[in-house]
Amino acid sequence: MSQTVTDTAPALANDRDLFSKFDPLIAEREALLATGVRDPFAIVMDEVKSPTLAVIKGQETILLGTYNYMGMTFDPDVVAAGKKALDEFGAGTTGSRVLNGTYQGHREVEDALKEFYGTSSAMVFSTGYQANLGMISTLAGRGDYVILDADSHASIYDGCFLGDAEIVRFRHNSVEDLDKRLGRLPAEALKLVVLEGVYSMLGDVAPLPEMVAAVRKHANCMILVDEAHGMGFFGANGRGVYEEQGVEKDVDFIVGTFSKSVGTVGGFCVSNHPKFEVMRLVCRPYVFTASLPPSVVATAATSIRKLMHAGEKRAHLWKNSQRLHKGLTDLGFTLGTKTPQSAIIAVILTDQTQAVAIWQALLELGLYVNMARPPATPAGTFLLRCSLCAEHSDEQVTQIIGMFEAAGKAVGAIA
Ligand code: PMP
Repeated sequence: MSQTVTDTAPALANDRDLFSKFDPLIAEREALLATGVRDPFAIVMDEVKSPTLAVIKGQETILLGTYNYMGMTFDPDVVAAGKKALDEFGAGTTGSRVLNGTYQGHREVEDALKEFYGTSSAMVFSTGYQANLGMISTLAGRGDYVILDADSHASIYDGCFLGDAEIVRFRHNSVEDLDKRLGRLPAEALKLVVLEGVYSMLGDVAPLPEMVAAVRKHANCMILVDEAHGMGFFGANGRGVYEEQGVEKDVDFIVGTFSKSVGTVGGFCVSNHPKFEVMRLVCRPYVFTASLPPSVVATAATSIRKLMHAGEKRAHLWKNSQRLHKGLTDLGFTLGTKTPQSAIIAVILTDQTQAVAIWQALLELGLYVNMARPPATPAGTFLLRCSLCAEHSDEQVTQIIGMFEAAGKAVGAIA
């Protein structure tokens, strides 16, 4: 006779269990929802009509929080490639490439990446998160050092934890602090310096030439740059900030994602290192997880090839970013950067209730932006994070600025 779990589970003392550590967060969220605001983390897009338009609760809503920088999600060639691969290769690979085999589509997307980046190797992961997790944990193990910007993405930190490397943090975008901290490490130790081209919270760009010069003063360092938010938009070929700033020869690894400019899902690392291919045998987040489905790699390969010739889109995205930055600054909002540096424009607020109120007012007016709060942001900082798309029309940008004016005034955030 089988017993239920409740029959056998011993009682926990003091009503505590492993969820108890989340009680303050649960209480904070309940208190916020009790004020009648909509839950910022439970929005459902009932219909998505284009890269910039969705229907939320029956209302047409402009999307301004997608990371869909180049608007490739609805590109007709990209969508057609996905449908064809679905018909010809089926819905999924049902396993890892190491065991189940590589599909022709995986080879094709890696070839497209090698061409896009001009590198000898490219390796595709199931997400950008896994690309950082895999590369960092496999390159830097116990006894090695990972030197990273304090504002690094969670996947970079998690890569360090998985690999068990020593973590050395330097102050966000501070060349001086990077240099100082490298100088304190044993010269003979092997070190991986991890940088990002664009930092996604505030949308600011790293001073890569100065950082590379600082790193080169120290022995045994390799450099990895995460270009998740730079790909597609920066540089003559859209490779990222490292291309725009002219440090291509100084960087050992570029990590990126298909979930932003490419318009689908997946992650990758490209490199010219002669031993790079060994990663396919030793990188656990590559070996022990299912590979991307044929439709996804086909859409990614088509999108990446089109991004090689997307100069006009890049110019329009840049114009959109500059217009929104100026419009919001003129209205009196405090932004993450003094001048527009990327396609991310972050409105900084210091009061959670006010931040949620503006976010909700914007939603009611038909505009969706991201709400970011601690721990993703520094303590006491709440962000309404906007990411522009090359497919936002001039008229939509004008509408967006008008909506911010109305919402900001309604809530008392601007005069
Ligand atoms: N790196 C950075 C800098 C990111 O912002 C993100 C996602 N926001 C990732 C990596 C992870 O990418 P993915 O969504 O493909 O997992």
